[in-house]
Amino acid sequence: MSGPALEPEIRRVGRRLARAAGGGGLRARGEDRLMSWLSGRPELRAALFRTVDVAPACVSPDELAAHLIAFLPPGRLRSGLSRPLGRRAAGWLGGRAVAEMAGRFIIGESVSAAAPELGALWEQGIAVTVDLLGERTVTPAEAAAYARRCHDTLDALAVAAEAWAPRADAECDGAGALPRVNLSVKVTALTPLVRPHAPERGAEDARPLLRELLAHADRIGAHLHIDMESLDSRALVLELVLDLLAEPEFTDGPSAGIVLQAYLRDSGEVLDRVIAWAADPAAGGRRTVPLTVRLVKGAYWDHETILAAQHGWPVPVWSAQADSDRAFETLSARLIGAFPTLRTAIASHNLRSVAHAIACAEAAGLAPGDVEYQVLRGLGDDLGRALAAEGLRCRVYAPVGDVVAGMAYLVRRLLENTANDSFLSRRAGGTALGALLAPP
Ligand SMILES: Cc1cc2nc3c(=O)[nH]c(=O)nc-3n(C[C@H](O)[C@H](O)[C@H](O)COP(=O)(O)OP(=O)(O)OC[C@H]3O[C@@H](n4cnc5c(N)ncnc54)[C@H](O)[C@@H]3O)c2cc1C
Repeated sequence: MSGPALEPEIRRVGRRLARAAGGGGLRARGEDRLMSWLSGRPELRAALFRTVDVAPACVSPDELAAHLIAFLPPGRLRSGLSRPLGRRAAGWLGGRAVAEMAGRFIIGESVSAAAPELGALWEQGIAVTVDLLGERTVTPAEAAAYARRCHDTLDALAVAAEAWAPRADAECDGAGALPRVNLSVKVTALTPLVRPHAPERGAEDARPLLRELLAHADRIGAHLHIDMESLDSRALVLELVLDLLAEPEFTDGPSAGIVLQAYLRDSGEVLDRVIAWAADPAAGGRRTVPLTVRLVKGAYWDHETILAAQHGWPVPVWSAQADSDRAFETLSARLIGAFPTLRTAIASHNLRSVAHAIACAEAAGLAPGDVEYQVLRGLGDDLGRALAAEGLRCRVYAPVGDVVAGMAYLVRRLLENTANDSFLSRRAGGTALGALLAPP
């Protein structure tokens, strides 16, 4: 079943999830409304982003206020905040806002600090993938340090997970066992040699560190997920991961995953490549553990659009939100149809996109646990709980680290939340559920 025949079920599932998820707590609702309000004020939005970016380097609230005032466009707000009382209020409020935002999106400064929440989520039937904040690597020493942190985090997670009670629903699907320990890593943090026109340089440089991480994940029975970043590193990341996983050493593990970004116009061809790899007996076809593909829309839309405009290149991403949403649905259906050769993780906070995948999986005759649904901490917590309550397999992406290391991550989340057409913005702005669940 596909196309219009799925619509009634998509609406049913969407309404059920919306009821179960509710509207978030009072504070989260307030924050979401503020984000939605900002989406119509680009100059204020830019000033706030720039302030968030410099906040960790500010030594006092007064310095933070000075930056905010300098970034604001001329007008009443700027002159008001320039007065002594306004400046004091801006510094204090700005500092609090950054700290609150970090607390919302970051699960803890370390795995041990995050351990109680990881355990509590597991009890609710929600698994986690941990992401280590701190993404920019400019020297080989930083790459080695990031690899060491990943290695130690795998070990720390394994220790924390020993305390968790067995959960059949989270520990296996129709394709076999699923590791409790799950870490998301970034290849660009494993090499300072990311060169869009020579992906092989970065791939060769990152190869030994990534191979060692895969080997370690295999030794301790963990899952390693390789995040996808901006397009200039896609060839490096994809080819390196597929190449390494095809090595005989990794035939029986570890469980591993990659990310497919639906906002890229050529994402269908990328999926062709992954499906061919998984079927090739000399490549992924020799593996006994299916590759997981996390389907996302993509977190670098502004970056890709602006970069292409600056250089006069064709824009690699879709230009209308509905095109990305449609591509997401097409790719969801293809990925779900590839189970159990591939495992699918649907990563979205858009009720329509998620409900569509659930309806597709039902129509394909998959069991509820055969597809994973992933949400970001701080953005999809209510949806995650609603999915788990439906008996679906859910995982929260949970960044670990400090605010300074997490700035790039926080700014990406802010960009998403204040984009005019984003699902969360439309919902916070009061768009009716029927419209939110309509076909894109
Ligand atoms: C668990 C998890 C893991 C993730 N991992 C990654 C990752 O490894 N790599 C990565 O890049 N992203 C990742 N993301 C982020 C993801 O790509 C999206 O940015 C985010 O989830 C918002 O998409 P949505 O479907 O939730 O929301 P929606 O509001 O439905 O969609 C917003 C998205 O649509 C796209 N978009 C925005 N404006 C336009 C436009 N004008 N035209 C066309 N498309 C537009 C952008 O991709 C934007 O993020 C992850 C998300 C989750 C939940």
